[in-house]
Amino acid sequence: MSHGEALARERFSIPQGVIYLDGNSLGAMPKATPERLRALMREEWRTDLIASWTKHGWIDLPMTVAAKLAPVLGAKASELLVVDSTSVSLFKLLGAAVRARPGRTTILTQRHNFPTDLYVAQGLADMLGMTVKTVAADEIAEAIDESVAVVTLTHVDYRSGAVHDMAAVNQVARAAGALTCWDLSHSGGALALDLNGSDCDLAVGCGYKYLNGGPGAPAYIFIADALQDQLSPPLQGWMGHLDPFAFADDYAPARGIARFLTGTPSILALAAMECGIATFDGIAMTAIEARSRELTQGFIERVEDLCGGQVTLASPRDPARRGSHVSFAHPNGYAVMQALIERQVIGDFRAPDLLRFGFAPLYNDEAEVIRAADILGDIIRTGDWDSPRFHARGRVT
Ligand SMILES: *Cc1c(COP(=O)(O)O)cnc(C)c1O
Repeated sequence: MSHGEALARERFSIPQGVIYLDGNSLGAMPKATPERLRALMREEWRTDLIASWTKHGWIDLPMTVAAKLAPVLGAKASELLVVDSTSVSLFKLLGAAVRARPGRTTILTQRHNFPTDLYVAQGLADMLGMTVKTVAADEIAEAIDESVAVVTLTHVDYRSGAVHDMAAVNQVARAAGALTCWDLSHSGGALALDLNGSDCDLAVGCGYKYLNGGPGAPAYIFIADALQDQLSPPLQGWMGHLDPFAFADDYAPARGIARFLTGTPSILALAAMECGIATFDGIAMTAIEARSRELTQGFIERVEDLCGGQVTLASPRDPARRGSHVSFAHPNGYAVMQALIERQVIGDFRAPDLLRFGFAPLYNDEAEVIRAADILGDIIRTGDWDSPRFHARGRVT
């Protein structure tokens, strides 16, 4: 592989001519996924029917897929499950965390965290008579005191791409007796993580972004080994029972992380997720992180050259403090993004004024960085974005 090429473009099916810079929102489709789903339906569901739960290992998929995800996240297989959505998973982990810290009244998080993270925390706090405290990113450490049950943060900010120092926050939290729960939605599959090395307690993350698991793919949860038997899931379902097929009246938790299973897993979605994770096979996360920095850096430099002062970088300038996406502010960001999309450069818009571009080192390359920046420069220079057709808003941005 030569300098600037994508690390595994041949593993994806991306429409000709499209420069796809939205893999941080919905990862591109792996070539293997349609055939795997077709085979699952024909040879497993249709043919072996209910025997497939055992014969084809369906019942264990949340664990077997997690084991494949482990090296991508820098975690142990025994610490992961692939299950539910990120939002539901977050509720489960935060609920378990506050139960494990009785008497503490605060869930600490960051102002302008991803909305679902805030809403889940608020709902849980309302239910339990607790308080959600939100502070700015640089005020987290000083806000951690003995009233805090759990600190919950998104590792890479979904707007700016700014990265928290995970190990530093974990250390302060641990010293104060609080647990930490990280949302890795914009980190997993993009950065080289070391969850144990950074003393991470709990984490959740999204399957359909950099992990390429498909729309609405199951999320993942991480629970450090040492904590697993101390935590009780707030959603006690039969799949997390010690012996689900005993059909006992009373709940008894499974050992280890399996108690965080709730209901019957979505097998089609897990099969697609497995294909998404397989796109990382044989590629070191350090190589992905390094390439991500090259791509984002190249894009920032060229956009700033071409757009002069008309767009403002809204991401950290220091590559070590950035995730794998870059945001630029423009007062008419929505229309500018629509003009880009018409010219086959697909990023997204985040209110109030951000143009957001995600770089997935598995399938994005340097030529795309250059071409996307050139097209953006052209749209800004000519004012082409200022047309009525670019101002009409869709339901999903
Ligand atoms: C994408 C994303 C989610 C998505 O949650 P869902 O339950 O899958 O809709 C949650 N948190 C963050 C930080 C995200 O970026």
